[in-house]
Amino acid sequence: MPHYDLVIIGTGSGNSILDQRFADKKIAVVEKGVFGGTCLNVGCIPTKMFVHAADVAASPASGARLGVDATLDGVRWPEIRDRVFGRIDPIAAGGREYRTEHEDNANVTVYEGEARFTGYKELTVELPGGAETLTADQFVLAAGGRAVAPDVPGLAETGYHTSDTIMRIDELPSRMVVLGSGFIGAEFAHVFASFGVEVTVVARSGALLRSEDDDISERYTELASSRFDVRLNRKTVRAHRTPTGVALELEGPDGAETVEADLLLVATGRHPNSDVLDVEKTGVTTLPSGHVEVDDHQRTAVEGIYALGDISSPYELKHVANHEARVVQHNLLHPDEPIASDHRFVPHAVFTAPQIATVGITERDARERGVRYVTATQDYAGIAYGWAMEDTSSFAKLLADPATGQLLGAHIIGPQAATLIQTLVQAMSFGLDARSMARGQYWIHPAMPELIENALLNLPLDE
Ligand SMILES: Cc1cc2nc3c(=O)[nH]c(=O)nc-3n(C[C@H](O)[C@H](O)[C@H](O)COP(=O)(O)OP(=O)(O)OC[C@H]3O[C@@H](n4cnc5c(N)ncnc54)[C@H](O)[C@@H]3O)c2cc1C
Repeated sequence: MPHYDLVIIGTGSGNSILDQRFADKKIAVVEKGVFGGTCLNVGCIPTKMFVHAADVAASPASGARLGVDATLDGVRWPEIRDRVFGRIDPIAAGGREYRTEHEDNANVTVYEGEARFTGYKELTVELPGGAETLTADQFVLAAGGRAVAPDVPGLAETGYHTSDTIMRIDELPSRMVVLGSGFIGAEFAHVFASFGVEVTVVARSGALLRSEDDDISERYTELASSRFDVRLNRKTVRAHRTPTGVALELEGPDGAETVEADLLLVATGRHPNSDVLDVEKTGVTTLPSGHVEVDDHQRTAVEGIYALGDISSPYELKHVANHEARVVQHNLLHPDEPIASDHRFVPHAVFTAPQIATVGITERDARERGVRYVTATQDYAGIAYGWAMEDTSSFAKLLADPATGQLLGAHIIGPQAATLIQTLVQAMSFGLDARSMARGQYWIHPAMPELIENALLNLPLDE
């Protein structure tokens, strides 16, 4: 049975840990799928490449209110798809080749198969030639999560896509149903609607993106409802095939109804892969959510076993997985001087239309926690750049501690939200208060960041 100093399971963010500082260690890397993990192959990167094409496809329609009449002649789906994967697939293949063949990795053995723990610090990998069992002093659990579907009768037999498969379809459908109201559904609804697909969104609750601040969720639900056929408060009771595609039988406020489409995208959530990896067999504990339990140093309950990214992180974001990988890397190299992960101000963005970006707490959180806070909202319509865009629906909302001016949360829905939020992430991370931030620097006039300047100045802080 081969024994290693270190075994890394998963080649998403886990793959970035190894460098020449690990050259004196005997290491194994285990990967059951495509090298590079979710973000590169089926997550952040391809989706945003499609979103950019979708934004371009949607822009002629937004010209009319500016007096610019333009029309979209069409989209060449196979070319869009092949451009995305023509860029990504070689990067994944290059990453695999580097780990398996490059002399830098002479100390690294790559096992390409599904791993699961079969005992204390004992891992069995299913390989084409049969199972192989290995042991190690240290492990890094970086096996991510997977898309999961709800338990709806007939769904499995009907067949559906998830985010793993939808981006590689051969041709655009005429009609698509998106089941789910989270960020993945929102991004794909925008992509496919922009490419001319009739999109129906089915949500169990009364709002879309409901984990966002209520004002953002409400505005997005309004805007989405004007663009897609949005069915809220619907229970999906059954799925079945039709001669041309799929049908979902729903129960809602007005009784039973059926939605039909050529294709169904299930985007109802993801689950950490701790169960597939059978982490309890090695003594690693999990939370009720299925996430591996870790401390601030990314250490699990078992000495020498670390976890990072989606398998342990409730954020399930690539920038968090990368940050945690850097923490694990440091702690493997410097066990006597461990560092902690910094999860104080984790931002995220939803690349739908319009973009949404958030950092810190929502107003709902602030109320529940009983913290003292004030809010300010600035519409894009109230700044010069917003006039240029003739924007009527976008805004930034800030929450701050009125006594100190420290920002508690920031929520933006509107063009370039994911970029605009970064100055606020910086202010929060470095403790810059709202007044100093607003008046301690120039803001280029008349550029979009004036939205942030005005929102900061609108905060009713204590004198
Ligand atoms: C559609 C979509 C869009 C997204 N967009 C964004 C975005 O815009 N911004 C953002 O920050 N995040 C986004 N995310 C989330 C982001 O992709 C993840 O947070 C990130 O990839 C997690 O990295 P990781 O290293 O933890 O896991 P992963 O990248 O998932 O890597 C885990 C690896 O482990 C392998 N593996 C799993 N189980 C086993 C096993 N038992 N044995 C061997 N190997 C195994 C998997 O094959 C995989 O390669 C998106 C996700 C999806 C699905």
